[in-house]
Parts: sequence; C-alpha cells; structure tokens
Amino acid sequence: MKTPINNYSSVFILTDENIAPFWLPEVCEWLHCPDAIEIIIKPGEQQKNLQTIQEIWNKLLKDNADRHSLLVNLGGGVISDMGGFAASCFKRGIDFINIPTTLLSMVDASIGGKTGIDFGGYKNQIGVFAEAKDVLVNPVFLSTLPKRETLSGLAEMLKYGFVADSDLLQVGLDNYQSYISRAAEIKKTIVAEDPFEQGRRKILNFGHTIGHAVESYCLTKGNPLLHGEAVAIGMWCALWLSVHEFGLDTSVLQDFESKLPMLLDEAQFVVDEQGVPEIMEKLVHDKKTQNGKPQFVLLETVGEPVVDVEVEPDMICESLLQFRNLLF
Ligand code: ADP
Ligand code: ZN
Repeated sequence: MKTPINNYSSVFILTDENIAPFWLPEVCEWLHCPDAIEIIIKPGEQQKNLQTIQEIWNKLLKDNADRHSLLVNLGGGVISDMGGFAASCFKRGIDFINIPTTLLSMVDASIGGKTGIDFGGYKNQIGVFAEAKDVLVNPVFLSTLPKRETLSGLAEMLKYGFVADSDLLQVGLDNYQSYISRAAEIKKTIVAEDPFEQGRRKILNFGHTIGHAVESYCLTKGNPLLHGEAVAIGMWCALWLSVHEFGLDTSVLQDFESKLPMLLDEAQFVVDEQGVPEIMEKLVHDKKTQNGKPQFVLLETVGEPVVDVEVEPDMICESLLQFRNLLF
C-alpha cells in the first residue's frame, strides 16, 4: 500500500452481500484492519443509484467518518464506481482504495479514476473523475466469481486486443489469468497519457457506443445484460461498421463472431422490431454523443482504431438489425 492503512483515522469497507461472506474477513486480516467498519449493500447494477450513495453517506456520518478516514472498495465495478463517487464527495473528498474482485474490474473498472452512478435510466450519467489511492489486485478473488461474470471480463480483455495489443485476442476461459496484468497495464498506460479522455483514452470506448445503449435498453426492460455482454454486442456492431465504413478485413468480424456463443452463453438478449428504435434513442443520450450524433470508435485494422467517427443513423440501425439476424 502506498499510504499505510494505520495512517487513517478510521477505515470503512464497502462491499456487497455476495462478496462479504466469501472475502470480508480475509480482507480485514490481509489489511491488518480488524476494526474496519463494514458497509454492505445489495449486489447489482440496479443498486448503482443515488439512493445507495445516500445509504453509504449515512453510514459514514453515523460512524463518524472524518476527512482522514479511508474507504476500501471491495468488489466489482459497481462497488468501485459507487464507492469512488461517494468518497470523492464526502466532506469534499476522502481517500479510497480499490480491491477488485471481478475480472472486469481488475482489468478495467478499478483503474482510471472514473466514478459515478446511473441516473434517469441511463448509465453513468452522474459522476466525477477521482483517482483511487491504490488498486490492490489479487486473482485469488476470482475463485468464487460466477462463470458468466468471468466471460463479461473476457469481453473487455478482447477489446484491448482490438484497439491496442492483438495478443489479447488470444484470451479465452482457459488462459485469461495469465493476461490480467498485461491488460491492466494497457489500461494504465492509456489513462496516464490521457486521464480526462480528451484524445487517446477514447479508444477504450470501442464497442461501448452501441454497448451502453444496449445495456441501458435491457436494464429498462427488466432483462439486464452484464456490461461485458453488452460490450460484446457493441463490438460486433462496431466491427461490422468498420468493415462497411473503413474496409476492415471481414475475417476480423468472422473471428469475433465465432466467440459470441461463448461470450453470450448465459445472456438473454431479446430485442423485437420496436427495440431497435428504442436502442437508437438511448444512443442519442450517450455522454459521448455530440450534437445528437453518436461518436464511434472504429477500426481500420486490428490495433489501429479511429476515434470520433460519426456514423449515419441508418448504418447504425443496419448493424443492429444484422446482429439481430445472427440470433435467429
Ligand atoms: P463488474 O466488475 O462487472 O461491474 P459487479 O460489481 O456488477 O461487476 O459485480 C458482479 C456480480 O458479481 C455481483 O453480483 C457481485 O456481487 C458478484 N461478485 C463480485 N466479485 C465476486 C467474487 N469474487 N465472488 C463472487 N461473486 C462476486
Ligand atoms: Zn466497459
């Protein structure tokens, strides 16, 4: 740890009901922190809202957190997004560290200082950039992670393969552990170059323009997808658009298509004719949409992404319809 934990006036650990029974006692021991105050919330993206943030603030207040308290976020992206946001506003900001317990958060969400909550039916609408004091990665947590969650993390690892390092396109269920540190390094390097997403960091949004819209759509329909599953759908659409707009080799699209049955093994993506316009509506509300025009990251070739690409709505619709055809 960069700042020893005993330098803080008090330590709070935020986690959820699934993770606590497996890992909370171990982590208190690991941090040499038997007096840590637990904040245990319900699991899931549906909890990533203002009400939960209030619960966290109430608990911090009730147990006398002060500006020298530390919040430890023990969990996946939902916990680090909410904990980071709650900590960075509480008394104008207290320190927090992230201990990621999902594959996705080890390679992505716990790194890079994006924090926040969903609002008004849209993902990550309210939040701030706030850097964790430290990120403690330990793959031992993955031993209890459900397979569906592992697959969701694999999708984000494949994303790094498309935009930055083609070796990451080799990741699968049998070898992902050996790529965790490499994927996390890619994220750290890109974020260090461009912390506030003015330029290069935008390449990390590959698959996320449509991905976020699909994720929001499924969430509001009460049939949520995991983030990585939605990103897998978004990446397929982005690859399809790259083939049609930038002449990307179709074999890249086909190779990825062959991985979809694995990546979406447990996902239920139900979208009727009416769904496509609803997803288009969600796209317009994406934070990266400018003047009502969604901004895409597309590929010229693997490892050569182009950012800020405006795509005609007709083409976006077509990519979604083509994806739908794959399912039937
Ligand atoms: P993500 O990092 O994908 O955003 P979430 O924070 O949404 O992940 O967590 C995904 C789900 O997995 C939640 O239900 C959470 O309780 C559960 N979970 C997270 N880490 C573990 C773990 N190590 N073991 C078992 N369940 C876990
Ligand atoms: Zn993502």
